[in-house]
Amino acid sequence: MRGIVIKSTGSSYLVHTDDGKTQECIIKGNFRIKGIKSTNPVAVGDYVKIAHASEDTPAYIVDIEERRNYIIRRSSNLSKLSHILACNLDMCLLVVTINHPETSTVFIDRFLASARAYRIPVTLLFNKVDLYNETELERMNELITLYRSIGYECLICNALQGDGIEEINNLLKDNVTLISGNSGVGKSTLINRLLPNLNLRTSQISEKHNTGMHTTTFSEMFPLPYGGWIIDSPGIKGFGLYDMNPEEISHYFTEIFEYSDGCKYGNCTHTNEPHCAVKKAVEDGKISISRYASYLSMLEDDEEGKYRSN
Ligand code: GDP
Ligand code: ZN
Repeated sequence: MRGIVIKSTGSSYLVHTDDGKTQECIIKGNFRIKGIKSTNPVAVGDYVKIAHASEDTPAYIVDIEERRNYIIRRSSNLSKLSHILACNLDMCLLVVTINHPETSTVFIDRFLASARAYRIPVTLLFNKVDLYNETELERMNELITLYRSIGYECLICNALQGDGIEEINNLLKDNVTLISGNSGVGKSTLINRLLPNLNLRTSQISEKHNTGMHTTTFSEMFPLPYGGWIIDSPGIKGFGLYDMNPEEISHYFTEIFEYSDGCKYGNCTHTNEPHCAVKKAVEDGKISISRYASYLSMLEDDEEGKYRSN
């Protein structure tokens, strides 16, 4: 039987099978996914094959289908192991707020660059529009203009009262979507709106397999009533990048990458080099200063080795 992993606790998994049932499964044998040193061999979003001998025995995950994509983060700062947060995503919905709390453009841009590295499209959702004063509304519109100009879809909503939910439903339909954002921006409020049947949020995983792990740090996937899935990952604020070198970072800032064609040096990092077309474009207002600042902040992290897995 084939199915999709909708929840993982580290030792057991909930699998939604093709016949519409939800089955708790454990892993048989030793799975190794090539190229990834991961703490979790099976992740939310994985398509798996399960074998279930009888009602009295546990169901086993016996095979994992190749992943279309995955997002990953380092297990801890010191660890070389990584943790796969979710896989086979169609898109990310990044919930942001202008105020209450303020989402920084650096945070947004890092998220966008990471998602681009994983080739996962992102839609920006500006939440809490009901709370903004005139200046904040202006700021929101500036950001929407900026992000649309570099190819990102932007939506506006008030998750508390439900304004803008229709458009979000249209976007999510038939897709697997990771919902992300800083804490306090309204992710839970939004998810509660999108899922009419909230019992789903407390899907049962039996206690005996759930030894000492906080389930809240694991991603969980919920079916949407009109088709598609959303993935709630309380543990994720952003997600980190792996094995990225400085040249690569600029590839994930579309507009910077485009202008870099005109730089004198092929390996220009757009910092101190002469005849840099990117810096010129920033000066001319063709690349936004905030985007360039985010790019520089990612470069700085790279110098500190934050994106390297070893
Ligand atoms: P999370 O940490 O991202 O899951 O954020 P929550 O969903 O817990 O929301 C944080 C707070 O913001 C709660 O008090 C919500 O009621 C409130 N909130 C969420 N969305 C909106 C909104 O669109 N408008 C207003 N006024 N408050 C909101
Ligand atoms: Zn340059």
